[in-house]
Amino acid sequence: MKITSKIKQALEENRSFWSFEYFPPKTDEGVENLFERIQRMSGLKPEFIDVTWGAGGSTSDRTLEICTTAQSYQNLETCMHLTCTNMSKSKIDDALREAKSAGIQNILALRGDPPRNQEYANECETQFRYALDLVRYIRQEYGDYFCIGVAGYPEGLPESDSKEKDLDILKQKVDAGSDFVMSQIFFDPQLFLKFVEDCREIGITVPILPGIMPIQTYTSFRRLTNLCQIEVPTHILEILESIKGDDQAVKEFGVKFCIEMIQALRQGGVNGFHFCTLNLEKSVRLILEGCGFVEKQLTIIDGLAKNEAHLKAPILNDSLEGIILQNESWDEFPNGRWGDSRSPAYGEIDGYGASLKVTVQEALKLWGYPVDKKDISDIFSNYIQGQLKALPWSDEPLFAETDAIREKLADLNSKGFWTVGSQPAVNGVRSNDPVFGWGPKNGYVYQKAFLEFFTSPEELEKILVKFENNPYITFYAQNAKGDFKTNIEVEEPNAVTWGVFPSREIAQPTMIERVSFEAWGDEAFQIWNEWRMIYLPKSPSAKLIQEIADTYYLVNIVHNDFQDSDGIFTLFQ
Ligand code: FAD
Repeated sequence: MKITSKIKQALEENRSFWSFEYFPPKTDEGVENLFERIQRMSGLKPEFIDVTWGAGGSTSDRTLEICTTAQSYQNLETCMHLTCTNMSKSKIDDALREAKSAGIQNILALRGDPPRNQEYANECETQFRYALDLVRYIRQEYGDYFCIGVAGYPEGLPESDSKEKDLDILKQKVDAGSDFVMSQIFFDPQLFLKFVEDCREIGITVPILPGIMPIQTYTSFRRLTNLCQIEVPTHILEILESIKGDDQAVKEFGVKFCIEMIQALRQGGVNGFHFCTLNLEKSVRLILEGCGFVEKQLTIIDGLAKNEAHLKAPILNDSLEGIILQNESWDEFPNGRWGDSRSPAYGEIDGYGASLKVTVQEALKLWGYPVDKKDISDIFSNYIQGQLKALPWSDEPLFAETDAIREKLADLNSKGFWTVGSQPAVNGVRSNDPVFGWGPKNGYVYQKAFLEFFTSPEELEKILVKFENNPYITFYAQNAKGDFKTNIEVEEPNAVTWGVFPSREIAQPTMIERVSFEAWGDEAFQIWNEWRMIYLPKSPSAKLIQEIADTYYLVNIVHNDFQDSDGIFTLFQ
């Protein structure tokens, strides 16, 4: 069924409605667990669900798998996101064909990342430069079979010269056959209401759904708002700054704030709410309950959340208890790069997948035109020293905890060990410590030191010899061809961050494990490729980056003696 028919029905019945957005997790286990989560969240009666599409088609298989399963087996009205830049036209055709054959009738037609350097343009780039081209194409090929949605930006698109131009483009997308608009997330309800007013003024009459993102953790919130360049009202930033050391308080504030925002939108006449769930369940449920949209259920999960598991013990069998506790911890802790790879939210804060997250012009300004490996070493060292604001792999400055190892990292980078991830060892620091703290109050947190870096096969051979004589080191290394090295004999997730808190089990939000290392490794090498493509094909910079991407290894080392804060660096002396 078309989303617009469902919206019409809800409006005729004079009731509010909501929908849930999911993204494809990076691992197979994550996808399996997401199916379970989508099923359970269907009990919250979303009008439809939608699934994002990785930049350049990077998640096409998983997006299609999740969409077709949700539509065909989970009986949920599903909308598939589809981008049109930086991938082949056949990928677009396959996606539309598969969606149709699975009975999916809703597509969110998007541009994706800005088109690449013309020299790399394929048939897709010449035909599809903008979302407008995709809307026209879908209408031309499929008539009115699909209900088409497009993106709208209450704050304007960051790359755009003016809000007026964006509105004009939105009108063109609607005139070309789009049936609804889904908005970018925002944190000021008045901005959205003004956006709707402006749209109506220029004759856009289709439904406009507001994008609502519950604040989950301080870090993921800052990262996503920076990535999408969303304005955050000062008073919200101030509150978050004051509670950022207490994850539970941040989540509770996120729920309360969303409820207030939805109330303000309802007063402004808005009836439908689109939740960017980040594949997380609990906050969305609490918001819907808080708005009075669904009945408040004192569920088993509620009980456990308040550490009242013992009250519920009689009705829990062991495996159910295990599943619920696991769901809880997935919702509670970050699910980014080093989260639990089984989590349905694994990859939570990575935006839309492997891309540079900056325009070609910004990329050239940041990283210039490297011609030899020394230039690449300089780029990495400058980033570590805070002189460069982003790397292709990290679009944010380093965390404050890196200060403890910054000089040593800069030294490593200048020697050709180009770090893309690291953490210092921490041996029992209070959980509210301004630098290393996380999790609930009155606890203690611990970390094993780890480093993740690219290096040449020659350097790798030299350090492998050192690892052999050090019983505290575990490592993984892989290159783009899939050659893999490790000294780990029995595969188990290696908890590298853990916390001990009052009245609860030990929490271990950060793990290094082969499956996530491999999933991330593929993406890390794709990013070299994305970087290469900002230069002309036969230029010295493109050749240099190609050579590195083809031959270098991505290496992850954990120093398992967390009491030895320097041990990991002595390996490189
Ligand atoms: P467009 O509508 O094509 O606009 C892009 C820019 O080009 C604008 O500045 C516009 O003014 C300009 N422009 C457009 N048409 C013309 C024209 N004819 N002439 C001149 N200028 C023009 N990204 C993903 O990779 N995967 C996703 O699943 C995804 N989901 C999203 C969901 C929502 C609700 C939103 C808001 C964004 C999503 N994005 C996703 C991000 C999106 O791909 C980016 O924001 C992208 O940069 C712009 O996409 P668009 O469809 O709005 O582009």
